[in-house]
Amino acid sequence: MKTKKIKHLLIGSNNPGKVREIKQLLPRYIKVSSIIDYKIRSPKETGRTFLQNSFIKSKYFSKKTGQICLADDSGLEIDVLNKKPGIFSARWGGRNNNFNLAIKKVFRELNKVDKNWREKKIKARFICALTIYGPEFKKIHAIGKIEGRIAKKKIGKNGFGYDPIFIPNRNKITFGQMKFKKKFKIDHRARAFTKLKKFL
Ligand code: IMP
Repeated sequence: MKTKKIKHLLIGSNNPGKVREIKQLLPRYIKVSSIIDYKIRSPKETGRTFLQNSFIKSKYFSKKTGQICLADDSGLEIDVLNKKPGIFSARWGGRNNNFNLAIKKVFRELNKVDKNWREKKIKARFICALTIYGPEFKKIHAIGKIEGRIAKKKIGKNGFGYDPIFIPNRNKITFGQMKFKKKFKIDHRARAFTKLKKFL
């Protein structure tokens, strides 16, 4: 099966912010809609990797709607925590996706592993996996990563999720302190989309 030129894509996310951001990262000629318009709930993320979860979501939404669908899965890996929170990044925030709770849990887990973690470089990375799946369409995958370290404390009011505790390599400030325009250009999502666009 050949990869045909995509003119329309369904974004497999119920998060309006994410849909807006994805729209900006796609080529202009692609018309975009989202599952928000279809009122479909997201499936259970039962995969063991970011890639598997992005595939589960894109296939599920595509089968429900008959459309070619783009879905993503992303999160933060911390090496000394055996890559946790990883695919559980959103779930560490509890039912209401409370990012303060998730960050507190990161600090709690780091303290459990090493009381002096603040004196060390705690290597971490954000990962974004993308899958496009659809009828008569050869599926496409892409993964983007940005390496960095965990900050000693939560700092910065920009962004969302773990942004206030992640300092990308070659930077002194967290994503939470960085201007959105800059983060948006260098982050894991931007990198994944740069790879994906080569196939579109
Ligand atoms: P997803 O929506 O299932 O991909 O969940 C992603 C979760 O990972 C979010 O709820 C955040 O906690 C975290 N995450 C992913 N990307 C970022 C980012 O760019 N900044 C901060 N946190 C992120």
